[in-house]
Amino acid sequence: MTVCAKCNKDTNKTYECTHTKDQEYCTECYTELHYYLTENESC
Ligand SMILES: [Zn+2]
Ligand SMILES: [Zn+2]
Repeated sequence: MTVCAKCNKDTNKTYECTHTKDQEYCTECYTELHYYLTENESC
């Protein structure tokens, strides 16, 4: 169990990339983050 760096919720699965500054985000936060980025750059 890991805590999401953005919403601080416990989550089973985390994602990280350069956009999250190598912090672990839950699925919802990760998706939301990239929702605004997809038009300009890809992951
Ligand atoms: Zn989150
Ligand atoms: Zn990314």
